[in-house]
Amino acid sequence: MPHAESVRRKHTRMVESKDSLVQRNCPVCGAQDGKPHWQKRDLNLVRCGSCGIIYANPIPVGMASGKFYDDVGTEYYLSPDKLESDYADVRFERELRLFRSYCSRGDVLDVGCSSGAFLFQLRKRWPADYKVLGMDVSGAPLDYAESRGVPVVRGNVLEEEFTGRKFDSVTFWAVLEHVAEPGHFLEKAHSVLKPGGVCVVLVPNFRSLAVRLLGASYRYVYSQHLNYFDNRTLVCLAAKKFEVIATRFTHFNPVVIWQDWRDGGRDVSNTERARLLKQTTAYKQKSWMKPVKAAYGVAEYALAQCGLADNVVLVLRRRS
Ligand SMILES: [Zn+2]
Repeated sequence: MPHAESVRRKHTRMVESKDSLVQRNCPVCGAQDGKPHWQKRDLNLVRCGSCGIIYANPIPVGMASGKFYDDVGTEYYLSPDKLESDYADVRFERELRLFRSYCSRGDVLDVGCSSGAFLFQLRKRWPADYKVLGMDVSGAPLDYAESRGVPVVRGNVLEEEFTGRKFDSVTFWAVLEHVAEPGHFLEKAHSVLKPGGVCVVLVPNFRSLAVRLLGASYRYVYSQHLNYFDNRTLVCLAAKKFEVIATRFTHFNPVVIWQDWRDGGRDVSNTERARLLKQTTAYKQKSWMKPVKAAYGVAEYALAQCGLADNVVLVLRRRS
């Protein structure tokens, strides 16, 4: 792991212990009539009376500004377990396959790129086909991305002009659930894409089997997730600027369901999260796991067909 330890130390900071709260309008339609839905410790979820999305309201000011991720994210995003699984060949398998089928070459911007693993894999597999750029608010993971040869820009994408550079595709892998104004991010993607360019968005699916079985006990109902999209509400948000050219449901983790059911919704530490990710990735690489993998593949396929898998992905084409 090149430089991971020094990068982590450089960015360790004190975290504000008490955040003030800010109120939000609906992140999809802008309405102000959210009704209480779930409460989980400090997290208040409301349901929009107009479009039906579930979202966190109010939220700590550090979450609204994104500052949280430069303070706390370092410990998780640069943990050796997380880095090892992110950079494993199998980690972005589904994302790469899907991405490749809609964007076979060109200039790619990955927003919220973290340690740069998606772009690293993209260029490793098809070095001649892509020019890549990662962007994130969290400095330490970007230092790591650079140490692996992934070019990056630091800061908030909403404030970045890219010196007029336009992209063939923009990707958001598990980003829009974390930001207070997801619509602004899609507008920005629209403005930096070439005509006909493709935007790929992956978010957790609020209609997944895991959420249906576990409700608020699911570990991904937690303070870092501000927006709880499903296929319908994500399309609502995206259709303002984009044509939806594909919808997919992907990923299924029965171990998470089993653990969260057993533990009844306790907080799962970042260390545990990273360790589980590493274990899951290791299982995928073992040859004796082939029969289990086959059964798992069938289950994941069936859930995806029913819209019950863990994530929903939209492939969007920029309207001119
Ligand atoms: Zn709404």
